[in-house]
Amino acid sequence: MFEYAPAPESRDIVDIKPSYGLFINGEFVDGHGESFKSINPASEETLAEIACAAPQDVDRAVHAARQAYDAVWSGLPGRERAKYLFRIARIIQERSRELAVLESIDNGKPIRESRDVDLPLVAAHFFYYAGWADKLAYAGFRRSPTDGAGGGADPRPIGVAGQVIPWNFPLLMLAWKIAPALACGNTVVLKPAETTPLTALAFADICRQADLPPGVVNIITGAGETGQALVAHPDVDKVAFTGSTDVGRQIARSVARTGKRLTLELGGKAANVIFDDAPLDQAIEGIVNGIFFNQGHVCCAGSRLLVQESVAEELLGRLKSRMATLRIGDPLDKNTDIGAINSAAQLEKIRMLSEIGEREGAARWSPPCELPSRGFWFAPTLFTDVAQSHRIAREEIFGPVLSVLTFRTPAEAVEKANNTPYGLSAGVWTEKGSRILWMAERLRAGVVWANTFNKFDPAAPFGGYKESGFGREGGRHGLAAYLDV
Ligand code: NAD
Ligand code: MN
Repeated sequence: MFEYAPAPESRDIVDIKPSYGLFINGEFVDGHGESFKSINPASEETLAEIACAAPQDVDRAVHAARQAYDAVWSGLPGRERAKYLFRIARIIQERSRELAVLESIDNGKPIRESRDVDLPLVAAHFFYYAGWADKLAYAGFRRSPTDGAGGGADPRPIGVAGQVIPWNFPLLMLAWKIAPALACGNTVVLKPAETTPLTALAFADICRQADLPPGVVNIITGAGETGQALVAHPDVDKVAFTGSTDVGRQIARSVARTGKRLTLELGGKAANVIFDDAPLDQAIEGIVNGIFFNQGHVCCAGSRLLVQESVAEELLGRLKSRMATLRIGDPLDKNTDIGAINSAAQLEKIRMLSEIGEREGAARWSPPCELPSRGFWFAPTLFTDVAQSHRIAREEIFGPVLSVLTFRTPAEAVEKANNTPYGLSAGVWTEKGSRILWMAERLRAGVVWANTFNKFDPAAPFGGYKESGFGREGGRHGLAAYLDV
């Protein structure tokens, strides 16, 4: 066996300032809350001091977004809005190396992923929705009939969008939120997660570079309280949230009876279903990608592996050999497969649920691997002898932990796959096309991948059933969340 030589990406390309303000009305301003630090989860080093938006700052940001909506943005023809979005997309491409390095430093994800997955998709989302901005009249939507004056006419924007996003794909979730909102003529106030604010703040700089009119995009940093103040603000017309189901419930309660529009993208516990005729080596790659991509911090992660009994032993043998080749460590090393867990709190949650898995009687396995001494790390982990009642089979772990169950018949596979409060995604591996269609029809999941997993495209809608939330992001469907239809 040859050893890998270290292949670190240089971090010289990023210029992290010692402190950051809130981006309101095109300027960086101080916040009135207590500032906090963002750290590098791979080293625990402090990266920057971040301003915290108190209620008066949230109010100021929403006010700026309202003014920009009324005075400029909602009145611009779609083709003019498109120019700004195309410009932003191009700047993202030009600065993609810088943004990828910054994302890996602040989040802990491997540079190979931020460089090859996150950033290309971020740019692609802006390009995709830029293309829609001047074609909204042809997207198949009509103004809501309750709108007395214009029922049936071309759709209009909703107004000011308050958007709250998580830490697992900081810049990509920003793109999913901001690109369709702006394309449709809305203005936004976005709050990134408190552990990963830096790329959103770099995006604020990109908005200035693109000469976006002040107030169209406002970025406010802070933790849950800031998010709460934003979604509860009376002058916000539309709320979009991605994150945990618990917080999603709180937001739904806070928005109920206000007339605000709401879309929620919450958790998942996806089944990745392997039939005995599946190409096993390909399936192994799909399983590994499904649960170990982004340290398993993925709402659509394939965290429940359902294997047909006749191939279970062979598949698990091959999966273990493959897992033993995964390289954990420095996120900036181009050879790294698994980076750092995003925060001490998330690491604690993964540890706790894994210990519960053992206590409840499942068999735990990890390949031998050395973890760095500083930072937050968790070895790729496999549980067998898992029962459907076990917490590791029911709860979202949001880490590199796979629970394996078996089945005998397709009907049993469907039954087990759907036996979850969630319904975001699923995977099916089989040679038979008819079985793929049969399964896809029965799986209660927003996305069903066939002989692949974790494939994303801005043209494809994404979203959940049941406790995974409602509303779709991406594609033509994603426009509906930002139009008064
Ligand atoms: P979270 O839901 O608490 O945080 C997501 C975002 O919501 C952050 O920006 C946070 O500041 C904000 N927020 C927190 N409380 C809020 C409130 N009351 N009102 C408005 N905004 C609020 O998620 P977390 O604590 O970072 O992670 C916990 C769990 O959530 C994870 O273990 C995972 O299971 C799940 N999660 C899911 C996704 C997803 O993409 N579906 C993303 C992140 C986390
Ligand atoms: Mn951080």
